[in-house]
Amino acid sequence: MKKTFVNLEQLQEITQKHPTPFHLYDEKGIRENARRLKKAFEWNKGFKEYFAVKATPNPTIMNILREEGCGVDCSSLTELMLSEAVGFNGHEIMFSSNVTPVEDFKYAKKMDAIINFDDITHIDYFNNIAEMPETICCRYNPGGDFKISNAIMDKPGEAKYGFTRSQLTEGFIKLKNLGVKHFGLHAFLASNTTTNEYYPELARILFKTAVELNRETGAHISFINLSGGVGIPYRPEQNPADIMAIGEGVRQAYDEVLVPAGMDDVAIYTELGRFMLGPYGCLVTTAIHEKHIHKEYIGLDACAANLMRPAMYGAYHHITVMGKENLPCDHKYDITGGLCENNDKFAIDRMLPKIDVGDLIVIHDTGAHGFAMGYNYNGKLRSAEVLLKEDGSTELIRRAETPADYFATLNFTDFMKKNLF
Ligand SMILES: *Cc1c(COP(=O)(O)O)cnc(C)c1O
Repeated sequence: MKKTFVNLEQLQEITQKHPTPFHLYDEKGIRENARRLKKAFEWNKGFKEYFAVKATPNPTIMNILREEGCGVDCSSLTELMLSEAVGFNGHEIMFSSNVTPVEDFKYAKKMDAIINFDDITHIDYFNNIAEMPETICCRYNPGGDFKISNAIMDKPGEAKYGFTRSQLTEGFIKLKNLGVKHFGLHAFLASNTTTNEYYPELARILFKTAVELNRETGAHISFINLSGGVGIPYRPEQNPADIMAIGEGVRQAYDEVLVPAGMDDVAIYTELGRFMLGPYGCLVTTAIHEKHIHKEYIGLDACAANLMRPAMYGAYHHITVMGKENLPCDHKYDITGGLCENNDKFAIDRMLPKIDVGDLIVIHDTGAHGFAMGYNYNGKLRSAEVLLKEDGSTELIRRAETPADYFATLNFTDFMKKNLF
């Protein structure tokens, strides 16, 4: 059974202060998990996690991870600015972007972030606008299917990212000639994996490629960036990834491939997002309508604009009816939001206890790629974000949007101000 990190009593108290809907984050869970990751890779001297900002772009959350020793992985100008505001700088920032505009590259260079090129043409593109840094990372796309023991995990051959294998050699030579002294190698080959084999398998590919590139080009490889992709158990029957086993699997590949090649000073970097935050956030909502037509519907005060994954990918998010955890799941519901889109359903044909209007409904595992993917369709406003601190108190870490926020970019704001507010 999947459990919420707050109980009904706590939530009733929290909702007195913070009206639903809001995303609630669990500071204790975030910190403990970050420490487990660090422990799993403590065998590697240079290990660093660069938290993927896109997963949860909130400065309070980013600062908690900073206190736990993490850097940040950014992919846009505003993510860089946000990171700068939190106090990240220099090589605490990885810039893993694609289709990168000039101003983003310039800003990353100004901050001395580690730049991770997505394409061989980006070398000249960058060189024309800024001086090439001494440290550069390149993203690898091996193409084809990415398999683990014959099961297809993902299809890199269909992915827009990265250099081909021969482009890596050509790119490294080119970069060396432009003065680059330290190289990183990055790849992201499968998303939301819960098998413990993904990182070790990916590491083996990158380690072998790093040894080849070192032999071919003489480049000094200073780090391997395993990127994101370690998943979380969204479904109650799934097992969580065992981060200690994953760290150990990567260590074995390191000892088998890099150490014999004399490359035992290579640092391991990760850019995890989902794994760092996913389970430590939830969307707290209230049932505001029940509807009985051809199916049974429960309407919430949140919608797909607050959590897009179910509508976008048909993703499963577990749902708990607070206070009814031990009642039989003998009612079949579609749990919906109020968008004028029939895919605005958090769950379809979900067996749950009988829901009454006014019940607090918690949607699990929204800590990563939850609030962050929010949007304003139908004029729906983005919700607040609240932090449950280690001492049990709460802090509003982002207020909810108001209509004024929604209208702020229009050029008849003065009219709106005069007439509506
Ligand atoms: C999205 C992304 C990540 C984080 O992915 P998760 O699945 O959340 O771990 C890391 N690196 C890059 C380049 C990404 O695009």
